[in-house]
Amino acid sequence: MKIHPISTGRVKITKSWLIGQEDSPFRLLHPLTDRTFTDWLPIFCFVIEHPEGLIVVDTGIPANANDRIYFPPFMPLVQRAAPFDITEQEEIGPKMRELGLDPADVRWVIQTHLHQDHEGGFHYFPQAEVIVSRTEWSAATGLKGRMGGYLNYRWPKDLDPTLVDFEDGPFHSFDQSQTVTAAGDVILVPTPGHSSGHLSVVIKEDKQLVFLAGDAAYSQELLLANQVDGVGPSVEDQRDTKQRIIELAKTVPTVFVTSHEWAGAERLKTRQPVHAEIAMQGQV
Ligand SMILES: [Zn+2]
Repeated sequence: MKIHPISTGRVKITKSWLIGQEDSPFRLLHPLTDRTFTDWLPIFCFVIEHPEGLIVVDTGIPANANDRIYFPPFMPLVQRAAPFDITEQEEIGPKMRELGLDPADVRWVIQTHLHQDHEGGFHYFPQAEVIVSRTEWSAATGLKGRMGGYLNYRWPKDLDPTLVDFEDGPFHSFDQSQTVTAAGDVILVPTPGHSSGHLSVVIKEDKQLVFLAGDAAYSQELLLANQVDGVGPSVEDQRDTKQRIIELAKTVPTVFVTSHEWAGAERLKTRQPVHAEIAMQGQV
């Protein structure tokens, strides 16, 4: 199955956003006051050419991503801690057309979560079925969502996603899952921690799984170190999620791909599983 990584522009985040100061009671504050930044990171969306229809995983940011957001009051600090670099041509719609893919042919849009760098392209897919976890939708919508930093005011007014409750039973190290395709080869698993209702997309291939992790970890290295980030609401959930992904990768060869790691696209291209790296660390 062809899986295309598409970076909708780039983002820098502060170092304490990338690597959370776990022992500090101010873990969630440091990312906003820190003045040291990462290099430019990608903002990957993925397009899966599935026999049952095109599947888009996350829709990236729009070209106006740096426009000032006045509400809630802490958003200018968030913006200062995560500047974007994107042109209109780099939005997901034009990028798909460059690859010869028509956004109108997309059947499913799966959102790993609803942070602003993952949900900026809904307007390209008005005909698609949008899929979000029920927990994420409930955290992200309404005034509560706005106060939590979700930019729900910019979503299409008629956005009416299918809400996932993960009712299809366990999948390896995950207690719950939800299958998307009739063929049973695209599966969603709950990966909370970075956001309360975060999910990951697992694609079954002949020899391995491809695990599209969104922001469940910012990189494979941070996954293997079970390193929490500086913005996810729950340290415990972040750790539990990473541990489950590691357990999965020990059981089945798993190509681990995140939203903000250039090397992930390389691993996807060569289908390089994480399994070998766990073995090298002597964990299996
Ligand atoms: Zn995020």
